Amino acid sequence: MIPNVPDTGVLMLDISRFNPDYFMSKIPEISVIARKADSVDELRINLSQLAHDMMFETFDDYDTFTVGSIIRVRDCAKVLMRMMTRRSEDKAGFSVAQAIKDIAQRKSRPDLTPAFYAEMLHLFLGLQGRGPGKNMADLHLIPSRFRQQEAAIERSHQLDELFDHINARGEKSVSGLHEESIKRRKARQERILEKLKASRENWNDWHWQTANILRYSDEISRLVELSDEEYDAISLSRKNRLPFGITPYYLSLMDDDRASGRDRAIRAQVIPPENYVEKMAEAERFGYCLDFMKEAETSPINLITRRYPAICIFKPFNTCPQICVYCQRNWEIDDAMEPGALASEEQIEAAIQWIRNHPAIHEVLVTGGDPLAMEDADIDRILAMLADVPSIERIRIGTRTLVTLPMRITDQLVAILSKYRQTGKRQMAIVTHIQHSYEITPETVAAVNRFRDMGIPVYNQLVYTFFVSRRFEAANLRRLLTLSGIEPYYTFNTKGKEETMEYRVPIARLLQEQKEEARMLPGLTRTDEAVYNVPGQGKNYLRDSGRRDLISILPNGSRLYEFHPWEKNISRDIKTHLSEDVPILDYLLRLEKIGEDVSDYETIWYYY
Ligand code: SF4
Repeated sequence: MIPNVPDTGVLMLDISRFNPDYFMSKIPEISVIARKADSVDELRINLSQLAHDMMFETFDDYDTFTVGSIIRVRDCAKVLMRMMTRRSEDKAGFSVAQAIKDIAQRKSRPDLTPAFYAEMLHLFLGLQGRGPGKNMADLHLIPSRFRQQEAAIERSHQLDELFDHINARGEKSVSGLHEESIKRRKARQERILEKLKASRENWNDWHWQTANILRYSDEISRLVELSDEEYDAISLSRKNRLPFGITPYYLSLMDDDRASGRDRAIRAQVIPPENYVEKMAEAERFGYCLDFMKEAETSPINLITRRYPAICIFKPFNTCPQICVYCQRNWEIDDAMEPGALASEEQIEAAIQWIRNHPAIHEVLVTGGDPLAMEDADIDRILAMLADVPSIERIRIGTRTLVTLPMRITDQLVAILSKYRQTGKRQMAIVTHIQHSYEITPETVAAVNRFRDMGIPVYNQLVYTFFVSRRFEAANLRRLLTLSGIEPYYTFNTKGKEETMEYRVPIARLLQEQKEEARMLPGLTRTDEAVYNVPGQGKNYLRDSGRRDLISILPNGSRLYEFHPWEKNISRDIKTHLSEDVPILDYLLRLEKIGEDVSDYETIWYYY
């Protein structure tokens, strides 16, 4: 019989329980099935049958169960059935069925980690409609006892309570537009100006900012407090000649009281962790390429990347005012504002001629490097050439200057961009990358307004890193973005790049965020799409579970997903992509370390 009540908070992070004995004592039926099976193949079939039966029983006897339990059983059953197939085992190079059999027969399996047992335990509890079930701090909307308007009044009251709860969490999150933040930053700017012997006029001049990019631990630590690890990582990155730099403006967004954690996301954006530096240096030393997105395979000509029919990426400028640690192009980007980053005239002309020769291309994303870090004359020249290509309906500029160098958005620059806008013929659009609401400042908002006043919309792409993945952090960012005139466009799952492991978040957390946090906000606040960017193929929309399969739980507790490419059904013989995720247990333990109440996240196990 399937119990109808979730085991709220039973397991969560009690690591001592994630072992074979506890697993078998909690799910004795599985132990019996595993011992009875004569072979692993028989066990695979029997567990699939069990999954099927559980799903059938739940849906057949539906009035005994809550809708939540039914859905959980369905999801777990689907995952278990998929994992038990021979194809999944072959692709994963690992047999979950074999592992279960070994555990049941008390064979030693030192390869299986607590994170593996945690996943399996939650999966089998879920298959019975059990497992932790606390979300939204136990606030549930209850069907009304009344009818018509009385029912509406009661529901409205419940919705008020729910939103108060959401708001209270949002209020904990910091914003760069709070009066206190503005005051703190003004004071820091004065200190930086004093140390650099410069004036307010200098500060507002983007050329002064780029001429004074901070590149060394010593100079940075004179202006802002660095931890020992940060200091060493910066020194090591310079020693290994890795691209690095922070604009004085961006440095002023950092706080002195690091322990408050307010500027965690800001520091993580630009100060590399030590293991990142080591991995990058190793790649340089041994000459292996970090082109995770396989750009080389989608670049038909220098400076161009094409993954979809009507759009291409154009990269005329190979540097930025400062370098994001987890930049997708970290393998090819130059040092911050390195001279010579602008492609030659011949290369630019050849790339634009290639676009002209492919009239299917209706949109060009000019990106980078950061194209708005080019001089006005170069921007004007390149835009004029692009605007001269008859098929181009939209020129999109990918830039982070709104965050790293907002003084770059001068009236003159905006006038250049808006020259190429023609209502009904060609749109100009800005796509920026704001990671956290603490990055949104009055200077950023003023820059956004300048674009919007000239009819140029601004969109945002968020990368869902560990540092912005706490409950309601992304939802809060989206609220502030839309209030500041920026439309949320994409939320990217962090890539599986080995060198940026510290930034990664399980896909399950992003799915949970979309369902339990983003969904609570009005539609115009959550206009973005959560995506996983498949190397060499492009975006896989995570809300469509039909485009991926969870095919295995690996010994280290990682989920192994198989992603189906976007062009499935319109092309033949295409390959799927396997992606090993971050173990959920490891992620939760990290959250706990930074002071999160991990029981707030406990439904994460059931997002597949
Ligand atoms: S602004 Fe864009 S191109 Fe430049 S370092 Fe950051 S992610 Fe890379």
